[in-house]
Amino acid sequence: MPEIKKILVANRGEIALRILRTAREMNIATVAVFSEADRNAPHVRYADEAVCIGPAASSESYLNTDKILAVCHQLSVDAIHPGYGFLSENAAFARKVREAGFIFIGPSPESIEVMGSKLAAKQAAGSYNIPMVPGTATAIDDRVEAKRIATAIGYPILIKASAGGGGKGMRIVESETEFDEQMDRAVSEAVSSFGDGAVFIEKYITSPKHIEIQVLGDQHGNIIHLFERECSIQRRHQKVIEEAPSISITPAIREEMGRCAVDVARSCGYYGAGTVEFIMDEDKNFYFLEMNTRLQVEHPVTELITGVDLVRQMIYIAEGKQLSIRQEQLQINGHAIEVRVYAEDPANNFLPDVGTLKRYVRPQGNGVRVDDGFEEGMAIPIYYDPMLAKLITYGQDRDETIRKMIRAIDEFHISGVQTTLSFCRFVMKHESFTSGHFDTNFVNAYFLPELLNTVQNPVEKALAALISARLLQAKKVVKHAQNDGETVPASKWKSRRLG
Ligand code: ADP
Repeated sequence: MPEIKKILVANRGEIALRILRTAREMNIATVAVFSEADRNAPHVRYADEAVCIGPAASSESYLNTDKILAVCHQLSVDAIHPGYGFLSENAAFARKVREAGFIFIGPSPESIEVMGSKLAAKQAAGSYNIPMVPGTATAIDDRVEAKRIATAIGYPILIKASAGGGGKGMRIVESETEFDEQMDRAVSEAVSSFGDGAVFIEKYITSPKHIEIQVLGDQHGNIIHLFERECSIQRRHQKVIEEAPSISITPAIREEMGRCAVDVARSCGYYGAGTVEFIMDEDKNFYFLEMNTRLQVEHPVTELITGVDLVRQMIYIAEGKQLSIRQEQLQINGHAIEVRVYAEDPANNFLPDVGTLKRYVRPQGNGVRVDDGFEEGMAIPIYYDPMLAKLITYGQDRDETIRKMIRAIDEFHISGVQTTLSFCRFVMKHESFTSGHFDTNFVNAYFLPELLNTVQNPVEKALAALISARLLQAKKVVKHAQNDGETVPASKWKSRRLG
C-alpha cells in the first residue's frame, strides 16, 4: 500500500489551508502552489514548501496542469489534493495525475466522468432503485417529443444543461408557449458556458428543499454515508447557509436517503469523499439531483456532527486503506450551521465588492469554527470566488447553534469591504428559518435589503419599520420609473460558485 508522505494542494484560500492543516496533523509534508495574486496568502506561508505557478488568472495558474505536475516531480510529491473548484472535478486531470505516477486524492477519473454529466449520472443511478425527478432521461433531440413529455409532466418545468453546475444552465419554463424560446436559450447557454449543448427536462418542484448526503467509499467497495446536510437557503440556486442535521426529515427518510446515496455512489464504483444531492418536495418525496465528486464547501457541518475529519479519511482512502468506520458506528451528535461570508453587498443586490480588509477580527469561543484564507490588511483578489470565510457554529441542538451563530456574527468584525454577514444574521433571526418552515425560495420570498438592520428594542423596531416602509415605497417608485425586473449584477468575479 502506498504511504503518502508529501501532499501538494492544488488550490488556494480557505480550502487549501483546511487540507494543509489535516496533513500537518498526520505528519505529512506539504506543498502549496500559488498564483502571483496570492503571493502573500496564508496558505502559502502555512505549507512547508510553496511554489508560484503563474499569473493571477486561474487558467494560467490554478488550472495549469502541466505546471502543477512539474512541481510534483521537482519536489518529489506523492499525492495531490485538488480541494473543490479548479481541477477537482476534471477527469482529464485526475487521469494525468495517475499516469504521471502520483496519487489523486479523490475518486477515479471514470467516476468523475460519469457524475460530471447529470444525464450520465441519472443513467448510472437508474439501475438502482433511486427516485428521479420526473423528466427526460436522455438529451433532448426531438422537440415535439420533448414538448409532449413536458405537457405530460405538467408546467412549470426546468430545462437543465447536462454539463451544468454552480447553479448555472437552468431555465424555468412556465407554459408551452415559452418552450421553444427557452429551449433555444438553454442550448446556446449550455454550449457557450459548458461546451456541451446537451439539455434535458425536469419537473420544476415549486417549494423544494435541497438535502444532500455525504458519502465515503474506499477502494475495496465499502461505502458509508455520514448523514445529511440541509442546503435550502440559496441565492440564484447557489447555497449560502447549510446545516446538519436537517430539521425537515425523519429518521426513516434519513435512512432511505442514505441508502439511495450509497447506491448512487456504488453505481459508479465510487471511492473517496462525495456528495449525493437530492431535492425534496412539500410532501417529503425526495429525488436524486446529482453527485459531486469532491470535498464540498459545506463539509465542516458534517465533520462537527459526526466527529469525522473528512480530509483525513480522503487521504487514507487514497492510500488504499479500508474504511475504518462502519455505518453502525456513526451517529449524529448535536447540530452545526455554516454561513458563507462573501465580499458582496446584500443591500445592493449582492453586488460583489472589492477592496482591502482594513479590519478583520474573527469570532471565537465555544462552538465556533472559522475556515478562511484571509488576514487583516490583505487585498481581496478579484480573480477568484468572493467567499471570505465560512463561519460555522456547533451546539447541542439547533436552537443553541442558531444563538451561537448570531453571537459569532456579531463578533465578526470586517471593514474595508461589504460582506454578507448582515444577511446571514437576518436569516438566523427570521421566523421561517428558526421554525424550519423554509425552502429554496426563502431569499426571494422574505429578503429585502431594507430589513437588514437588526434592532433590539421596541422603539428602534418601530423606527426601523417606518424607515423600511419609506424605503420600500421609494424603491417601488424607482423600480416603476426604470420598468425594471430583478437585475443580476454583472459580476467582476471570474469563477463560479460551488456547493
Ligand atoms: P448545479 O449543478 O448547478 O448545482 P443542481 O441540479 O444541483 O445544479 O441544482 C441546484 C439547485 O437548483 C438546487 O439546489 C435547487 O435549488 C434548484 N433545482 C434544481 N433542480 C430543480 C428542480 N427540478 N426543481 C426545482 N428546483 C431545482
